Amino acid sequence: MKLEQAIKQTIRDVADFPKPGILFKDITPIFYDQKLCSDIVDGFISKMDHKPDAIVGIESRGFLFGFLMANKLNIPFVLIRKSGKLPYKTTCYEYDLEYGSSKIEIHEDALQKDWNVLIHDDLLATGGTAEAAAQLVKKLGAKVAGFNFVVGLEFLNGRNKLINHSNNITCLVQY
Ligand code: AMP
Repeated sequence: MKLEQAIKQTIRDVADFPKPGILFKDITPIFYDQKLCSDIVDGFISKMDHKPDAIVGIESRGFLFGFLMANKLNIPFVLIRKSGKLPYKTTCYEYDLEYGSSKIEIHEDALQKDWNVLIHDDLLATGGTAEAAAQLVKKLGAKVAGFNFVVGLEFLNGRNKLINHSNNITCLVQY
């Protein structure tokens, strides 16, 4: 079975989570299937033009495949977390949400200047979170080499927010 088909068959749609009107794409059943996980990691890696210097994963579902990819590529994995979770000195970035705002952080020594960094999350919706991650990467003096996601909700046009940072945007499955 093709990877895209296998992922789509495994992801579970949960209606009205976390609030009414949202159709939540639940990727947790993917992690019950070891072969599918390793096919996803290989699928991501096969779509990379160049090996990045590091992969940044966005809390929390971005840690899962982000770390597996980095480990397989023998490169560092760096965590971006919500404000107040990282223990060492951090650099932060605040961005607007539909209602209110959110703040994310990265350890200030996590990336070296001029590194080419790939940003990973489980899902691209409006692109606000991944765009904020790109701003953090740049604040540390590194470059955004691209973005990858398991799922892209293309009808929300999240790509438009990311294209200023890199047009190397991969979604393994799209809706
Ligand atoms: P956004 O900043 O709008 O691109 O939202 C992306 C973040 O919100 C990702 O970390 C996703 O895990 C989560 N997210 C947004 N919409 C959904 C959805 N429909 N299903 C699952 N996760 C979602």
